[in-house]
Amino acid sequence: MTTSATTSTTPDTPTTHTAPLAVRGPLVRFRADPFRTGNAAALEHEPDGLLICADGRITAAGPYAALRDRLPAGTEPVHYPGHLITAGFVDAHTHYVQMEAVAAFGAELPDWLDHTYVAEERFADGAHARRVAASFCDELLRNGTTTALAFAAVYPDSADALFEEATRRGMRIAAGKVLMDRNAPDALLDTAQRAYDESAALIQRWHGTGRNLYAITPRFAPASTPDQLEAARALHAAHPTTLVHTHIAEHPDEIPWVRSLFPDRDGYLDVYDHYGLLGPRTVLAHGIHLTAAERDRCARTGTAVAHCPSSNLYLGSGLFPLREAKEGDHPLTVALGTDIGAGTSFALLQTMRDAHRVAKLRGYALDAVKAFYLATRGGAEALGLAGTIGSLTPGQEADFTVLDPRATPLLADRTSRAEDIEDLLFALCILGDDRTVRATYTAGRRAYDRDAATPFGAG
Ligand SMILES: [Zn+2]
Repeated sequence: MTTSATTSTTPDTPTTHTAPLAVRGPLVRFRADPFRTGNAAALEHEPDGLLICADGRITAAGPYAALRDRLPAGTEPVHYPGHLITAGFVDAHTHYVQMEAVAAFGAELPDWLDHTYVAEERFADGAHARRVAASFCDELLRNGTTTALAFAAVYPDSADALFEEATRRGMRIAAGKVLMDRNAPDALLDTAQRAYDESAALIQRWHGTGRNLYAITPRFAPASTPDQLEAARALHAAHPTTLVHTHIAEHPDEIPWVRSLFPDRDGYLDVYDHYGLLGPRTVLAHGIHLTAAERDRCARTGTAVAHCPSSNLYLGSGLFPLREAKEGDHPLTVALGTDIGAGTSFALLQTMRDAHRVAKLRGYALDAVKAFYLATRGGAEALGLAGTIGSLTPGQEADFTVLDPRATPLLADRTSRAEDIEDLLFALCILGDDRTVRATYTAGRRAYDRDAATPFGAG
């Protein structure tokens, strides 16, 4: 399962100039989707690997012995023996404006929304937005997450705050102001016209600016009138490289509600389909209660689903049918989302563990190779960024995370007895958390160093 340097599509978004960087250590990455090819064909494991980076991108990746002669003069690799270097984690569904709603007691989805609306109203205050956005980005990095697809609040300033803080940390963030013009508190409502105008201004300001991407973000079908979904369609048609990010079929009660609100549509997914919101840059969060025909339609349109097991377990929303989604006749693109704040951890490692638990409750054993894939390359594919991040191949942007298999006594004991790389990855999935993240690099710079305990950018 060793590999030599490979090539990949050259991304089209330039990154800022940074000094050359080289990082040496055990390396894992994916050349394909293991749900389709099997694990052995998909996973590349280099026991002594080397990444060479320049100007924010990976210029070489492979065995240290084969690449050491290509190190730029004067560049000494940062060496992580006994660790594991992986592509930075991709959180394919989260809400930065719900960070302070984490661990609200007791609610299922309808009551949960009342908690979150209170939290989101506070983002009318720009200073509050900037403070939470900074904490949110720091927390992502502490957990090894280099890219997230995130909801902001309805206020355009709240999206500005997240893009600004992500930019300061060199992260690749996709986000958007949420669109809601019904079925929410008055303070959080916009209109179809405001949704269009404010989103268009944010797209102009942020989409493709640095590493930022804009996501057109209707909250979910019940919170938008047909006019507002028409506005979303027009926005996406006018800016086809934007993402679309919304929720679907999270709680069973949503489905009759959507039918009553959109009686002319053939179900929940058909609402988004009708308004031109499905496609290879669309991420639908949850999708637990999609029908087989709806999953098939997602697959055919290239629409991705973000599986959010921590959130689903916390709210009791249901058990996502991962096997059916990935191994049916028309497998679809699935990524993992933390869904902060209904999810209770920023850690994709813990999200993998929860995905394993949910799969088990549906009679399916999700192994660690597939879980790591969902959290890295799978996430990149869901966001339409497979050529840009997620695989640690030359030409890709240099986002990666260094994991410490000895981060805790229990983890150290368990990983000391790991039988092979798959067993090591499984132990990291089941026992790992933020403590396991030794360092996080964005665009070829160290953005977080656990042991140095320094703020971002100090490395
Ligand atoms: Zn959500």
